[in-house]
Amino acid sequence: MELSNKVAVVTGSSRGIGRAVAVELARRGADVVVNYAGNAEAAEETAGAVRAAGSRAMTVQADVADQQQVNDMMQLVLREWGRIDILVNNAGITRDNLLPRLREEDWDAVLNVNLKGAYNCARAVIRPMLKARWGRIINISSVVGLTGNAGQANYAAAKAGLLGFTKSLARELGSRNITVNAVAPGYIATDMTAGLAEETKGEILNRVALGRLGAPEEVAAVVAFLAGEGAGYITGQVITVDGGMGI
Ligand code: NAP
Repeated sequence: MELSNKVAVVTGSSRGIGRAVAVELARRGADVVVNYAGNAEAAEETAGAVRAAGSRAMTVQADVADQQQVNDMMQLVLREWGRIDILVNNAGITRDNLLPRLREEDWDAVLNVNLKGAYNCARAVIRPMLKARWGRIINISSVVGLTGNAGQANYAAAKAGLLGFTKSLARELGSRNITVNAVAPGYIATDMTAGLAEETKGEILNRVALGRLGAPEEVAAVVAFLAGEGAGYITGQVITVDGGMGI
């Protein structure tokens, strides 16, 4: 299989898009580290799905915003499995509010998880990738990082920041055969969007050319493509998976 003998770390893969990515990478042969923040039961469920797909799974609780916890997680993976080939920076949170009501703690939390988390994780896996002269880093951004969105200044700033991070790392690491790309999902059916008001959902759907929400598996397919050999000459790119929302 395409990703046999590869080890993938997927942050925030207990639920939603991360879970779908973990299972898809496993289906293509990769062993998967299922990282999560607090939901151990969901992480174990994802690990079960990874194993059912025929790969090894390891669940690791670590807050991606915490550099020490991230370093400990990656060290554990390197001790147990000896390599890290693929990093998917997927863990993300929202704390939506219009600017006058956007508290400093909500700004910091969103920037720390969504943007600093990617920095923490990339920094912790870069050595083994450089040594192996092979690596794939895939950052999950959002269409909101491209367009902006009222009520999501913190989230949009973090997701736009991820794009600059992606392009810079792509330039830094290209000569070492490490590709760095971003995937920008649109409106995907997960816990993150489940709580949106019906009116808001309707407004968003009106802008989606395909007229429906996306499934986590539809994002996972693109992430898995970017992780494979077939995407070996693609780096520094942003692939939008939004059903035509951003046209
Ligand atoms: P979700 O269903 O809310 O799941 C979030 C995942 O991230 C969970 O596994 C959660 O772990 C984990 N997580 C949260 N904070 C973390 C932290 N500090 N450290 C480690 N893990 C953490 O979200 P989703 O919709 O699948 O979103 C996944 C990614 O796609 C996010 O980056 C999001 O911004 C992006 N995205 C989503 C959409 C969408 O429409 N859903 C659109 C564009 C972009 P626990 O289970 O332990 O809480």
